[in-house]
Formats: sequence, C-alpha cells, structure tokens
Amino acid sequence: MADHRVRVVYEFQSKRQHAEIRCACGRTVVISPKVIVEMFPPVLPLDQAAKRLRCTRCGKRQATMAGVHREHRG
Ligand SMILES: [Zn+2]
Repeated sequence: MADHRVRVVYEFQSKRQHAEIRCACGRTVVISPKVIVEMFPPVLPLDQAAKRLRCTRCGKRQATMAGVHREHRG
C-alpha cells in the first residue's frame, strides 16, 4: 500500500494534497499546496509548521496540520 501521508511541507505539492489546519477551538482552514509551500521551508515537519501559526479566531498556537485530498471543481 502506498504511503500518501504528508509529513513535511513540500509533500503537500509532491503528493498533491491541500493543507488542512485545525485549531483546538474548532476553526479549520484549508490552504492550497501552492500557497502552503510558500509559507514554510520545504523540509519543515508539519507539527513544527503548525506551531508557527496563530489562530485568527482564538489567538492560540494549538493547531495541527494534515494533508487532505481536494477535488478541483470549476
Ligand atoms: Zn483557534
């Protein structure tokens, strides 16, 4: 079975997955691969990248980040 799990930032692009960022408060944001790879160093692990983000709703840095498949709809 192929491993499609995204572990470092550049894999969002190489594995063609969007970045889903979930805060402890429940806020969820999905960012396209093109944008996420410009936000962080390419080999940064996702847990490290998530810690750099501050939630715009609650102001905490308790987010988690994971790769999600998104269909592109015209
Ligand atoms: Zn929050």
